Amino acid sequence: MEPMHISELAARCDGKGGDINATNSVNNGHPTIYLHLPPKGVVHCPYCSRSFVFKINLK
Ligand SMILES: [Zn+2]
Repeated sequence: MEPMHISELAARCDGKGGDINATNSVNNGHPTIYLHLPPKGVVHCPYCSRSFVFKINLK
């Protein structure tokens, strides 16, 4: 699964990845959680293991 690139230091994950075309095994999602990213680094969702990467210049 490709990491989600986000432009804030807080990621919201509900297991659906925000991708309506996603075809993965967790498409039923999970309770919405908020993850706090380090300024440089990656955080992993404990439910669905999706990784979030902070990109300051994300458009
Ligand atoms: Zn998740």
